[in-house]
Amino acid sequence: MIDLHTHTNKSDGTDSPRELVNKSIAQGLTVLGICDHDTTSGWEEAIQTVRGNLALALGSEISCLTHDGISVHMLGLLFDGAHQQMQVMLEETRDGRLPRMRKMLEKMNAAGVNISMADVEAARPEGATLGRPHLADALVNKGIIKSRDEAFQGMLNNDSEFYVSHAAPTPADAIAMIRSAGGVAVIAHPFASHRGEILQASDFHELVAAGLNGIEVDHRDQNPEERAMLRAIARELDLAVTGSSDYHGTGKLNSLAEFQTSPSEWEKLEALADKRRVVRA
Ligand code: AMP
Ligand code: ZN
Ligand code: FE
Ligand code: FE
Repeated sequence: MIDLHTHTNKSDGTDSPRELVNKSIAQGLTVLGICDHDTTSGWEEAIQTVRGNLALALGSEISCLTHDGISVHMLGLLFDGAHQQMQVMLEETRDGRLPRMRKMLEKMNAAGVNISMADVEAARPEGATLGRPHLADALVNKGIIKSRDEAFQGMLNNDSEFYVSHAAPTPADAIAMIRSAGGVAVIAHPFASHRGEILQASDFHELVAAGLNGIEVDHRDQNPEERAMLRAIARELDLAVTGSSDYHGTGKLNSLAEFQTSPSEWEKLEALADKRRVVRA
């Protein structure tokens, strides 16, 4: 069982890296990808916890923005965590999330929603990449809404009046950085259209030119037609196909390993990293 895209409480998941690794072992996973948003801070704890038959594919889900302002998530896996420029890029994105949150709060306050940065900070685990899910949790804690899911269907949706984007690399820049750090780049849920505007099929050529290695096809936010289109694009452009849960603990409905990547597609991807970086006990 191979699940290449999960989150811990180092971003907007709710399990610690230790808890996630333990769950993965209990469920019999063979490869677990840990891809917290714009950070590698969960890697060390995961490495210390891994044992048995589980292998770790450490990575990060990098928030990107196209020149047209379309939000894209790029999974970087198996890159060198000590790569200086990669860490600078991740840090700059994390830094941009604070003023962005302030702007979202200002818009909410102006509309009469009583929520503050202190409320958001109280909902964010220590050291976690700040994101809308923490704002959602703060709104839940104040009794303004019932769940993260409700938040993302309304107030916190990309199309909402309160939405603000943050500074982020372009998808091509993120891919180039992942590859220069020795890793592989897989575009996450590219056709998850309910989140907001998405890329077009023709946009993939440019990403392949930048070094894209794979497409996340099997994901709960993509319907069967969208998956079929992505599979066709992957075939045409000779890209690996992945499936993953995008597990966030209790922060989302997604169950660990609800979608998986086939061993042959994983082998294909792993062979494209500059060296064997999978971590085993
Ligand atoms: P941000 O990175 O701050 O823009 O927040 C986006 C993150 O919110 C995504 O990475 C998702 O993991 C998370 N998210 C999106 N939709 C939902 C949802 N319905 N329930 C919980 N979390 C969500
Ligand atoms: Zn997330
Ligand atoms: Fe994502
Ligand atoms: Fe994710």
